Amino acid sequence: MFENLSERLGGVFDRLTKQGALSEEDVRSALREVRVALLEADVSLPVARDFIKRVETKATGAAVTKSVTPGQQVVKIVHDELVAVLRGEGDPGALKIDNPPAPILMVGLQGGGKTTTTAKIAKRLKEREKKRVLMASLDTNRPAAMEQLAILGQQIGVDVLPIVKGESAVQIARRAKSQATLGGYDVYLLDTAGRLQIDEVLMAEVAEVRDVVHPRETLLVVDGLTGQVAVEVAQEFDAKVGITGVVLTRMDGDGRGGAALSMRAVTGKPIRFVGTGEKLDALETFEPERIAGRILGMGDIVALVEKAQATLEAEQAERMAKRFAKGLFNMNDLKTQLEQMLKMGGMQGLMGMLPGMGKAAKQMEAAGFDDSVLRRQIALINSMTKKERANPAILQASRKRRIAAGAGLQVSDLNQLLKMHRQMADMMKKMGKGGMLKQAIRQMM
Ligand code: GDP
Repeated sequence: MFENLSERLGGVFDRLTKQGALSEEDVRSALREVRVALLEADVSLPVARDFIKRVETKATGAAVTKSVTPGQQVVKIVHDELVAVLRGEGDPGALKIDNPPAPILMVGLQGGGKTTTTAKIAKRLKEREKKRVLMASLDTNRPAAMEQLAILGQQIGVDVLPIVKGESAVQIARRAKSQATLGGYDVYLLDTAGRLQIDEVLMAEVAEVRDVVHPRETLLVVDGLTGQVAVEVAQEFDAKVGITGVVLTRMDGDGRGGAALSMRAVTGKPIRFVGTGEKLDALETFEPERIAGRILGMGDIVALVEKAQATLEAEQAERMAKRFAKGLFNMNDLKTQLEQMLKMGGMQGLMGMLPGMGKAAKQMEAAGFDDSVLRRQIALINSMTKKERANPAILQASRKRRIAAGAGLQVSDLNQLLKMHRQMADMMKKMGKGGMLKQAIRQMM
């Protein structure tokens, strides 16, 4: 899987991580090479371009962590972005096979590995999830394909709907549905007909079957070696029949693997499984972390940087906790906290994490305290001088007027902020006596 891409990236990052200091140009030229490697792996152009842009932004903004080189840090950023691209928005979770009998529609072009994958999934559901599974072939044009599924069923000990000559795909689907219901099956998998190319007849047939069985999952099986073509096929099937996920086959080959990287970003559909061989247990659930690890092949460096980051955060938390416990909680600290709150999804998210603050969060919310309030408070702090931020006690009327005006707000807004600051400083001081504060700060980072 991904040998070529992996090798190419390995070369780029080996050079990068061996260098001590990195100039912006070093990073940029390395990323140019990454971009070429991605395109050669048949990752779609917009996906590759976005990817590089995000890595570049993060690499320039990254906090320098002691004990790792900038190159190692770039590797970690690339790794995280790979995971993000592979994962996409939201976790698809497990296959939806509650409410027995749950229909799963298997669709795809001929030769993509649809029949084999149907049997692989059936085997997995039977063995790992102890499900009673029924399979049925709807490929009325190819008796050999129907035969093939029957043989695979025997091999894995999964029931296959008997073949009745002369039935249409829809008739078989109906029979499978009633057999699955009557026979007390948990899941039934329908292996639909494939064609060498996408054609209207095929799509119409699959859509008709879909309307009869109302599948819980419609899985597209595509050959991962075909790169961008696989992504186009997925788009086409999704537009015509609607798919819930993708299975990429032949990922055991040393193919270019770009389909895996583009699929989610281009189609919005999750990859659920990858096929890694002809054997019936050569099927893996798609795990973005693991796949990213294989693409990059730099697990050691990623782990090293993660550890260094965790150490750095622990040290920072410790320093902050010490200062806060002494009552040294100034406006800069408050600003950091407010910014952190914004980043973490606002007030509620943060207060929920601080021990004993869940109730306070609810009260603040009830009082109309939301993210726009956070932004206004940050604006007020920005409007203060360095001296004022370090020691808000010096704020008298004229300074207050100036600060409020600078932020485009009222003095009453500033007074509110100052009150909150005093309360927080008090609380920090109290909490600092126990170990709670350090823990809370850690969680916020
Ligand atoms: P269908 O026409 O889409 O039903 O494709 P088949 O299931 O008949 O598969 C076509 C060929 O691809 C068969 O020889 C399979 O053994 C092979 N195949 C399917 N999945 C994989 C895979 O993940 N890796 C490899 N190496 N071969 C596969």
